[in-house]
Amino acid sequence: MSSTLRKRNSKLVLSALLLGMTVLSACSSDTGSKPDAAGETSGPASTSTTTETAKTKVDGGEIITAYLSEPQGFIRLWATTTTSSEVTELVFSYLYKLNENQEIVPDLATGMPVFSDDKMTMTIKIRKDAKFTDGEPLTADDVVFTYNVALSPDYTGPRKGTFSELSKVEKVDEETIKFTFKTPFAGYIDLFPYNILPEHLLKDVPIKELNQSEFYKKPIGSGPYKLVEWKTGQYLAFTRNEDYYRGKPAIEKITAKIIPDANSMMAQLQTGEINVIGVPADQLSVIEQAAKTSGKIKLQKGIVTTSYSFIGWNLTNPLFADKKIRQALTMSIDRQGIIDGVAEGQGKIMHGQTVPSYWTYSDNVPKFPYDVEKAKKSFEEAGWKDTNGDGLLDKDGKTFEFEMQVNQGNKIREKAVTVIQQQLKKVGININIRVVEGSAFTKNFQEKKFESIYYAWNITGDPNPKGIWHSAEIEHGLNTVSYSNPQVDQLIEEDLQSFDKSKRKELLAKVDAQIAEDQPYTFLYTPTTVMAYPSNLEGFNPLRDSLKEVEKWYFTK
Ligand code: ZN
Repeated sequence: MSSTLRKRNSKLVLSALLLGMTVLSACSSDTGSKPDAAGETSGPASTSTTTETAKTKVDGGEIITAYLSEPQGFIRLWATTTTSSEVTELVFSYLYKLNENQEIVPDLATGMPVFSDDKMTMTIKIRKDAKFTDGEPLTADDVVFTYNVALSPDYTGPRKGTFSELSKVEKVDEETIKFTFKTPFAGYIDLFPYNILPEHLLKDVPIKELNQSEFYKKPIGSGPYKLVEWKTGQYLAFTRNEDYYRGKPAIEKITAKIIPDANSMMAQLQTGEINVIGVPADQLSVIEQAAKTSGKIKLQKGIVTTSYSFIGWNLTNPLFADKKIRQALTMSIDRQGIIDGVAEGQGKIMHGQTVPSYWTYSDNVPKFPYDVEKAKKSFEEAGWKDTNGDGLLDKDGKTFEFEMQVNQGNKIREKAVTVIQQQLKKVGININIRVVEGSAFTKNFQEKKFESIYYAWNITGDPNPKGIWHSAEIEHGLNTVSYSNPQVDQLIEEDLQSFDKSKRKELLAKVDAQIAEDQPYTFLYTPTTVMAYPSNLEGFNPLRDSLKEVEKWYFTK
């Protein structure tokens, strides 16, 4: 699995902790995925019905979007933020891209990877018609060059761990590349979200200096768009690649503004200075009204992404050691109430650790729905009762209370924690909320300095969840709640060696069921994203956010 953070709030990348095949990052805003269907379009210019007159496709036009912060640069081996990966996708090609179900689809590749019987090698063929925008053809040499950067001892960037199972990458012929592994590695799809670099331009740049090279900020790629200008702190301007191998995109220009404030973005959306942007839940009603009034904006709701929010219980704390207590805590929390109360209904309850858009998702997990009476009974069975009449549960002279940390600046989360505090009060539990500044918060999470913590993951790529749930990841990894279940460890290891998709589905469904039973987190919800588009824009994928698949978009008249 791989992960990037969502835009819109302060960004927290746990890039220092990227491990093995997993590339995770914490996600500091609340956008995310939802299982049910394609969402809806609202606003005055909602997508036409079949009876309307056909619209004409326009050749040209400009998309103006915005990011809260500057991209880091255009080489994915170094750049770790969502903003960086989005702008890199405009300019570059990949062997494969991920679809909305986190499955690979060929980009430069002409088919799926072919494995040897022992699964020790993987062969990929690439198309012959891809060219860099300086006119040079993209060949197997460029692919080999890119992966050899990753495998070089001189590469010490944040994605190092992703390539640890790979021993070499070789050219077979101009259009064929062979990958050799140290051990069979079912998580191989995590090797693919890396943009293919032009060997002819970079072969003389020392690998250690690639991320300080001119190329890092002024890239030459082979993707649908070219970077024309990057004005630091202001904008990045792109124009379409007329020779793109999948055909010239219809949209001529893309401008990505840098605007470090979500409210300013929403103001510019209303004036038309931005025309494509994600709308935060707390701004939705304002923008819906603006869309109705102006007729120039349409909203796509319910967009599937891959993040979820949760409460992590520090399992080294005796208060949370018993799974019956954790299950009862989950039953004390009205998750639908949180979705409706703080996220304008833009989300779906999570019961396990896999987001519903994933191909491995299984609904068949133990569930602990909101049930105050049942929760109270469980606490009582565990010896927690209000013996002194103060309304709070007591046991051995101690009151049931604990601290819950939340990151500062994320208004939705700060509000959600307050709602959870009120809900737990009803069963006789007191939460002391601690709002912590962004970087200190991330550090507390990584260093396990919390009793309970409200946080979120955005997970993409291979579904194997080793990085978060395997006991080997407690010491240095992202298993910061110290969850340890030998059965889960074994299933995770078995899955990493399994290449059969249905077998993997079965193994990972068992992992999900076991983790759901154990409730090391109270899984809260997966938020859904709302995108604002110009009312005359078509061709976008209603299941995806940001600029994904922008080369298929077009304006109509
Ligand atoms: Zn009491």
